[in-house]
Amino acid sequence: MLKKLTDHVYYFPHSEETDRPVLGLICGEKYGFVVDAGNSPAHALSFLEEVEKIGAPPIKGVAITHWHWDHTFGIHAMNKYTIGHHLTKKKLAYLKTLRWDDDSLDKRVQEGEEIEFCRDMIKKEMPSRETLIIQEPDVTFHHHMEIDLGGITCRIQHIGGGHAQDSSIVYIPQEKVLFLGDCLCPDLYSGDWSYDKEDFERLQRVLKQFDAQYYLSSHCHPETHKELWEDLNQLNGIGEIVGNTVDAEKAFFQFEYETHKKPTNVQKERIQYFVNGNIKRRSRELF
Ligand SMILES: [Zn+2]
Repeated sequence: MLKKLTDHVYYFPHSEETDRPVLGLICGEKYGFVVDAGNSPAHALSFLEEVEKIGAPPIKGVAITHWHWDHTFGIHAMNKYTIGHHLTKKKLAYLKTLRWDDDSLDKRVQEGEEIEFCRDMIKKEMPSRETLIIQEPDVTFHHHMEIDLGGITCRIQHIGGGHAQDSSIVYIPQEKVLFLGDCLCPDLYSGDWSYDKEDFERLQRVLKQFDAQYYLSSHCHPETHKELWEDLNQLNGIGEIVGNTVDAEKAFFQFEYETHKKPTNVQKERIQYFVNGNIKRRSRELF
């Protein structure tokens, strides 16, 4: 079901079962606009059914936050004018050259090109992929683009980062809503999941430039300004404690020493991401 976030912004909630991300709908006086195309034709079509029910204005297009399958495999079924960063287009052009049957997916996981989690979710969401058509954006941008929907503006802006080089965010200034895509998620595609502390700080500096009351991350419930920044401050605190260490046990010990508490499982996971980021940074510096 579509949920109303503000007067002009709706969202179709995420679902962990098959890793369906949040899809957004922004309604202006003249046009509607969509954020992300869904992880399959079925996902895109059930979203469009809901859009029809609320009598939204005609959809002008779809903005893609990044190339990952769960945000783009519904592009063809959405059948709208699609806007994406030029790197999103480049990646999707490559994905079009790949085969998506079970054996090909398994092979790519073995070779380290695909990750197990995505492979399993793709199989679960689309048991058969014979009719899957991967489609590139119709329009690309480099830094940002603005779309006037009639009294409401959508600003799509590239932000990049470890999760995906092409990560883009969508800002609706009149509603103070910021769609974050997965830009605050760890890097999943280069070995162990990781956060690069410096890059993570850069991302936050960019996000702070947007006056937002609500944030929508693709795999979470919407968060208020206070909720998002409290969580990010906790993450930053963990990054500070980890420092430059490449030893997770040392970082766990340091956490306990500084906070007088043993890290919870979630905190341990976050510590490990920063440690992994340090390991990757060090190996980049060595070679
Ligand atoms: Zn992603």
